[in-house]
Amino acid sequence: MSDLAHLKIWDDRAIRDTLSWYLDVAENRRPAKFRIAATLSPEIDPVTSDEDALWAELDRLTPIFLGRWEAIRAGAPLPATTDGLSLLEVCRELVYRMLAHCNFCPWNCRVDRMAGAKFGACKLASASRVSSHFHHTGEELFYRGTEGSGTIFFTSCNMRCAFCQNGDISTDKDNGEETDPRTLAAMAWTLRHEGCHNINWVGGEVVIHLHAIVDAITLLGRDFTPTQAELRRARKTKADRLFWFDDASDKALYEGKFNAPMLWNSNFFITLESMKILRVLTDVWLPDFKFGPGRCAMTLAKTPWYWETVTRNLALIADWGEDYSIRHLVMPNHVECCTYPVLKWIAERVPAAPINVMAQFHPDNFCDPASDKYRDRYADIARRPTPAELEKSWRRARELGLKFETTTFERCDTLGMPALLNM
Ligand code: SF4
Repeated sequence: MSDLAHLKIWDDRAIRDTLSWYLDVAENRRPAKFRIAATLSPEIDPVTSDEDALWAELDRLTPIFLGRWEAIRAGAPLPATTDGLSLLEVCRELVYRMLAHCNFCPWNCRVDRMAGAKFGACKLASASRVSSHFHHTGEELFYRGTEGSGTIFFTSCNMRCAFCQNGDISTDKDNGEETDPRTLAAMAWTLRHEGCHNINWVGGEVVIHLHAIVDAITLLGRDFTPTQAELRRARKTKADRLFWFDDASDKALYEGKFNAPMLWNSNFFITLESMKILRVLTDVWLPDFKFGPGRCAMTLAKTPWYWETVTRNLALIADWGEDYSIRHLVMPNHVECCTYPVLKWIAERVPAAPINVMAQFHPDNFCDPASDKYRDRYADIARRPTPAELEKSWRRARELGLKFETTTFERCDTLGMPALLNM
């Protein structure tokens, strides 16, 4: 057992119950979903089939996949990987078909990103750029563990949050390095071989890079080993490349093949089509739930259909029996309109979910008065939340019986005192 499984945070039953698959995969007691997907043979040739046939094949294979996943959860052995193509290639072909009339997210821009002549709301063609990748030690304890979360940061976004705390990469689509799927797979491979507990796909927003990520995961499910040239390319964006990490190759394998939980760290502004593909590849989900059902998603993030999309997707992963935790960032002057309805919805619809009710909002991007980008219309969020706003948010979460305290206060208690021993 690694240090991750020894952490005291697993004593919290809500966390242990909701993240048990993730922990088993992180510990290599179980194969990641992409390894299971690699064992399922399609009845069609994914490469030559049209998109309708691919969707029908995904619909046919998904219940078979879920039956196999359940059996493996219960201790059944992993069947052999297919000799030919598999459910992985069905997913890969589908995302490239979607890219030609992009509907990865609800903007449903329908632009041909392969051609790259017109751009949608994310401003991207088919190329993906990575800003940085590294052992992230700032994520929730069950993700960062002792060795870090293997985080890969992509550029650009499909939302326009005025307060974005990652504005340098979400608003600058040209940040970082252009990265092909083999280089992406090399990044994930390296991070896991250095001991990271998971591969954390994040941005900006990740769904706008769905094709590149699914392609990279497909490679990882197909005995991918990076070449020296690919490792060198990957290293260009490795923010912690000057640090020394022990070789943890023995912790990157299940039955002798690459294994790692895939963590989908997203704003959850995602179409149902994208969700259906991610279902067979994602081991643990980390969605943001930012805005209430009123106008705030429009006024602060220029995002229509926010509430209905994010609540639909949250309900889906709960009903699908997925592993997940939720993040909610408390915003100044938005406790009544955003925090309260978000917490109420969670209590009514997904009460078992671990939640991080976060206090770290600071004025950034277009709501930072010290920045040239500052706009007066964001004056109501141009400050940190007050202690009173935070306290009433946490009080409401407590009154609703939400599972938030272990996750929210694992670094410090509500008075800011360091938490007691984590291990
Ligand atoms: S990812 Fe979303 S915003 Fe970008 S082109 Fe596709 S549908 Fe439009």
